[in-house]
Amino acid sequence: MIKKVLIANRGEIACRVIRGCRELGIKSVAIFSEADRESLHVKIADEAVCVGAGSNTDSYLNLANVLMACQISGAEAVHPGYGYFSERANFAVALESLGIKFVGPPTAAIESMGDKASAKKAAVLANCPVVPGSEGAVPNDTEALKVAEEIGYPVLLKAVAGGGGRGIRRVDSPDELSGLWKTAQAEAQASFGSGEMLIEKFVVAPRHVEIQVIGDSFGNMVYLGERECSIQNLRHQKLVEEAPYADLPDDVRRAMGESAVRVAQSVGYQNAGTVEFLVDSENKFYFLEMNTRLQVEHPVTEEITGIDLVHLMLKIASGERLPITQEDVTLSGHAIEARITAQDPDKDFAPSTGCITGWRAPGGRGVRMETHCYAGFSVSPFYDPLLAKLIVRGRDRAEAVRKLESALHEFEVEGIATNIPFLRRLIASEGYRTGQFDTSFVPRFLSGEAV
Ligand code: ADP
Ligand code: ADP
Ligand code: MG
Repeated sequence: MIKKVLIANRGEIACRVIRGCRELGIKSVAIFSEADRESLHVKIADEAVCVGAGSNTDSYLNLANVLMACQISGAEAVHPGYGYFSERANFAVALESLGIKFVGPPTAAIESMGDKASAKKAAVLANCPVVPGSEGAVPNDTEALKVAEEIGYPVLLKAVAGGGGRGIRRVDSPDELSGLWKTAQAEAQASFGSGEMLIEKFVVAPRHVEIQVIGDSFGNMVYLGERECSIQNLRHQKLVEEAPYADLPDDVRRAMGESAVRVAQSVGYQNAGTVEFLVDSENKFYFLEMNTRLQVEHPVTEEITGIDLVHLMLKIASGERLPITQEDVTLSGHAIEARITAQDPDKDFAPSTGCITGWRAPGGRGVRMETHCYAGFSVSPFYDPLLAKLIVRGRDRAEAVRKLESALHEFEVEGIATNIPFLRRLIASEGYRTGQFDTSFVPRFLSGEAV
């Protein structure tokens, strides 16, 4: 078993992984920026190394500094969390050259799934349905117009290197295309250093349903049910996720699970990963992309399967066999996660920064908090606004929704604005409570069209 792991991340996910290490008797090394000196992840790790000034490029994304921290600390392995270096093949390669294990998939699998065009190709080869669209990247807007004409409007322009909802634009008619192509491409170039775009059919009012997979280095792989993530903000970023998707027929769940495993195995995947799908109103599913890392919303899967994903990731990276087969995986109860962010609902969700003067977190049976925040902690402008993930578990969806309502009622943060008041309203809506929603729900809720 690996004895010492460096966590190349910050915030709640660094805390999550550090805890997982401690539970397995593995020493943990945190890295932190000068702005994160007081973050909980620094306090709960066995050791901590400063990797630079506040900005991400100076610290968490400073490859030389992070690699130096690995060497100084003598870590045998690195867990990348999500974001940052988690899906950068060059990071895994650099670690390998230093003889340090990467807690994640093989480099080739990261590369195959790293861009949406090659990921879709892999899915087609693995006999998995994909959203109809261009074959690979489209060179320019003239070409995009042709493809859009063929597949029919509305269409979606998407950054090939995309992630986190950036570089995505919906186009409803030919006269909009050129303008939106330019803005999407500029956003893609700025966010990912690549302006490569693809185009696909916009699936109207779909559900976002994703499958968690995990495999070992001996060729064993299982799927751990699905997560429903259709509650997304205006920028296609997930806000509230749940597992299971109560209305998914068992045969579709099985078909999606088996497709996900097939796609993952076709690129030699190992360790934890997520295959994302869109599901239309007739329960037809289409491959979207594969995220080759631990996902933000992984706790809802843990809650309904009883499986600790971080433990499994560390064991698999240590060379252990997957301790379960598909028959061992059973889904029980219902779990929901709400992302608590430092964003002001009264100011168009603008980021809010400064000192958290009061922090009263919810508790009770079936309530789980994942956070790096506490009263006295300062939220800096450098990072993602995620403050905490509030996860609840109930016997069924109705009980989980009630628990979430109750927990959000308890949750009070002072000193900075958060999205908690908005989440309370959203959860209380008819559409959310009855589970009758799709990816267009939040935009329609915000405009007053949906209640
Ligand atoms: P997931 O697909 O795991 O739900 P999202 O789609 O919400 O993740 O986010 C996509 C990306 O946004 C992540 O891979 C990460 O790059 C970034 N991200 C989201 N939250 C954070 C955070 N708290 N810190 C750093 N990066 C984040
Ligand atoms: P990212 O890498 O930014 O996560 P995804 O391809 O996973 O990008 O898409 C993010 C979200 O955008 C999806 O969850 C869905 O809500 C929406 N979306 C993506 N592709 C389509 C599509 N073809 N039709 C309709 N909505 C889509
Ligand atoms: Mg996605």
